[in-house]
Amino acid sequence: MTNENKLYEGKAKIVWATENPDEVAQQFKDDATAFDGKKKGQIAHKGVRNARISAILFRLLEENGIATQLVDQIFEDTLLCKKLQMYPVEVVVRNYAAGSICKRLGFEEGARMKQPLLEFFLKDDSLGDPLVTDAHIEELELVSAEERDEIKRLALEINAILSEFFADRGVMLVDFKLEFGKDSAGNIVLGDEISPDTCRFWDASTKKKLDKDRFRRDLGDVEAAYEEMLKRVETK
Ligand code: UDP
Repeated sequence: MTNENKLYEGKAKIVWATENPDEVAQQFKDDATAFDGKKKGQIAHKGVRNARISAILFRLLEENGIATQLVDQIFEDTLLCKKLQMYPVEVVVRNYAAGSICKRLGFEEGARMKQPLLEFFLKDDSLGDPLVTDAHIEELELVSAEERDEIKRLALEINAILSEFFADRGVMLVDFKLEFGKDSAGNIVLGDEISPDTCRFWDASTKKKLDKDRFRRDLGDVEAAYEEMLKRVETK
């Protein structure tokens, strides 16, 4: 892959053009950022581990009837993906309180939600990715009402599938972030990644954090946590 094929370089991934105009290659990097890019670092082997974890989870979702952008894993750190027109919002699903909802609403970390809680965030670094309500989404015409309802339905279905998968592997799925896009046929398709960069995972018995919070909060054992999550995800 030469530089002229580089379409976009983000904080954690590089997107490459491929010979097929309907497909892109997403290369996962070891670079890690937190707090709106104010904290920067590297997590050894993260690219390879996150690519593998994401590929396995996207395949699991496909097997359960969820359309995803994954076509194939083509290198250790690279996934071939369907090209999507991404929606300008991120969806967060929370089963337990952690991170920004604790600061915003005073939840105790680890408090169980009565039911899975959905939040939308506007993808805009210059605004610090603010939370947006349905009214904001309508006013700003970010996503149509029908698409928003479909995205909510898909996010809750994905949560049910993943929560069970991780529970079987001794992991609490605390919260996670999803990004959706539209394919050339107009279908709503899951994009981006699902990995310890985008989810909070706690060991079910010890409650040890096995995700990017170890990097965010300088908790140590960062690489080991990603390695452990890959091992759990690979467990049949
Ligand atoms: N998340 C993400 N990308 C973001 C913001 C959040 O992948 O830009 C994930 C994060 O890893 C966590 C969940 O979404 O699993 C909820 O994050 P939260 O709103 O608590 O924000 P944070 O505490 O990460 O700032």
